[in-house]
Amino acid sequence: MAFEKMSTILREVDRKGTAALAFDCMHYESIAWMVGAAEQLNLPVIIMLYPAMTNFISLEAFAAITKAVAAKAKVPVALHLDHCESFDTILGAIKAGFNSVMIDGSKLPFEQNVAVTKEIVKVAHALDVDVEAELGKVGRAVNKEDFQDKSGYTSVDEALRFTEQTNVDALAVAIGSAHGFYVEEPKLDLQRLSELNAAIDTPLVLHGGTGIPDEQLQQAFRMGINKLNLGTEYFALFYSSLREYVERGEERPGMFPMWNYQKEKVYEYALRKLALTNV
Ligand SMILES: [Zn+2]
Repeated sequence: MAFEKMSTILREVDRKGTAALAFDCMHYESIAWMVGAAEQLNLPVIIMLYPAMTNFISLEAFAAITKAVAAKAKVPVALHLDHCESFDTILGAIKAGFNSVMIDGSKLPFEQNVAVTKEIVKVAHALDVDVEAELGKVGRAVNKEDFQDKSGYTSVDEALRFTEQTNVDALAVAIGSAHGFYVEEPKLDLQRLSELNAAIDTPLVLHGGTGIPDEQLQQAFRMGINKLNLGTEYFALFYSSLREYVERGEERPGMFPMWNYQKEKVYEYALRKLALTNV
């Protein structure tokens, strides 16, 4: 098992009619615990790094840790660079050993998004690295219109042309989700999702997983989402579990019992989320 291409994982879950979960990680603990939880359920997992996190950990260190953890894992583990607009950072990630990258040209007009994505695909595929792109507007969950305004949702016709022209390995689509904590419960446009899924073969990705009700997530997996990105809610869990631990006022303060406490909370969360993919 161990280190695996994201496209291989996505094809496999697509065959089973479900999704793989992708977690934005930031340090050894988050990487190892997510892989550990995936192993408990015998499910594949995608470890992602958000480019801004390179303020805390280098691309090289993140890749080395993930590969070391993956080498001992009993399940497939892919390493993906999340949302990136910089050609240089993407090249840096590929050089560091990431086997999947995301080029996010979704803010650009269609033709330009196609052009920048094609550039990345050309380089990445030559080096056996997968590429995810985004089409449509997946905005911020603090802005209601970002996930409720259907004019920003991915058009089926554009998705078809985009995937044909770019040959990407995964496509993030806008169907009513957004990044961060939602100000109002989101309602995914499952009709649009099934139309997209019927029109194109490329695995579809749902961003902004935090706060989408479990039932909607499972419906989305059944209807064509093959990768779900999660970050916000368990970043918050890292914080709240640490705070809880401190407030309990342990007699013997120290890092090790604190890590164990956090590990337990993060495992609980990851196991619950991962289990949703058993649809
Ligand atoms: Zn995203």
